[in-house]
Amino acid sequence: MHLSEILYHLGEEREHYFNAVSTPVIQSSNFAFKDLEVFRNSLKNELSSHLYTRGNNPTVKILRQKIAALESAEDALVFASGSAAISAAVIAQVNAGDHIVCVNAPYSWTNVLLKRFLPRFGVASTYVDATDTSEIEKAIRPNTKVLYLESPNSLTFEMQDLAACAAICQKHGLVSIIDNSYCSPIFQRPIEWGIDLVVHSATKYLNGHSDVVAGVVCGSKALIQKIFDTEQMCLGAIISPHDANLITRGLRTLPLRMKRSDESAQKVVEWLEAHPKVKKIYYPFLEDTPQYELAKKQMSGCGGLFSIETTAETLEEAEAFFYRLKRFLFAVSWGGHESLVFPTCSLYGIEGKSNPPLPFNFYRFYIGLEEPEWLIEDLAQAFGD
Ligand code: PLP
Repeated sequence: MHLSEILYHLGEEREHYFNAVSTPVIQSSNFAFKDLEVFRNSLKNELSSHLYTRGNNPTVKILRQKIAALESAEDALVFASGSAAISAAVIAQVNAGDHIVCVNAPYSWTNVLLKRFLPRFGVASTYVDATDTSEIEKAIRPNTKVLYLESPNSLTFEMQDLAACAAICQKHGLVSIIDNSYCSPIFQRPIEWGIDLVVHSATKYLNGHSDVVAGVVCGSKALIQKIFDTEQMCLGAIISPHDANLITRGLRTLPLRMKRSDESAQKVVEWLEAHPKVKKIYYPFLEDTPQYELAKKQMSGCGGLFSIETTAETLEEAEAFFYRLKRFLFAVSWGGHESLVFPTCSLYGIEGKSNPPLPFNFYRFYIGLEEPEWLIEDLAQAFGD
């Protein structure tokens, strides 16, 4: 289906809503019935009818259809956060005694799910350097049920070969799940490479305005129904119709925003590459990075994220560079209009995080929708040029 059809028309059924151009917010928890048979059918298939908003809601359904089509999936569910979506997708695949293989350094709360939450229910995980696909196969046990991927991940951007991972999962009967928040479906569609479930923090690019926390899971009808029947309905971490509508509005401009962030980030990266105070750049589309060929094969763009290591030799020097930046907001997350910086020197000195794996002169940048030249000016003055 054409991107414009998905973003501007799919699922909107305007004839039911006075032909309103913008999608309606059906802010109702409940739906009334006149006919017993219709009610019975609704109870039998809550996912595709309108019975109660913990199950389905017309405004949320519009968003589900668009997200599924964007990811080339048969269906999608929307949750109250990316972490709720990830938890629902993973928990639905495992029982006590099962095992998960996960990439090194997934998103921090995914890590907590696998390391602290699931072991309480008898589910163990093994972490592997999945940049080398053979490491995945070595870690698979008879009780392994899930391969969890994040490609690229969101600080240092390691990638996994999606087609190879999908083949391994098919061979061993595992469900493959990928966090695709870095690329958005505009730049990478893992289901087309054979991956089973795609999750997103919709808080990032999908919404794109830094005003909603949400998550999505996309996959086959059967896998989505399974997650719906247990994790969505029991844990109930659903999105509100109002927030769903804000994301649908955000999606209208997703391709434009992705293109802008992608082009601007490339310009900023090119400028940084030539800077003597930049020691290393982490960015999948740099020709001399080891996974460049893989990035080009499975991604059509990088978006706005990259990281750098500077030549700062002391924590004070690293902090001073950060303090001189004036046009980047200091914040976690990404995907809005505003450019951001996340310096790892901010983690030094915190109880329990005093020994982070990343050096103190490491900064993750997100390039938003501003003029890239204006941001480069700020970087230049912060470097003391
Ligand atoms: N996945 C990645 C890569 C993230 O960076 C985040 C949040 O920052 C999440 C998942 C969790 O999403 P949320 O904050 O919407 O729960």
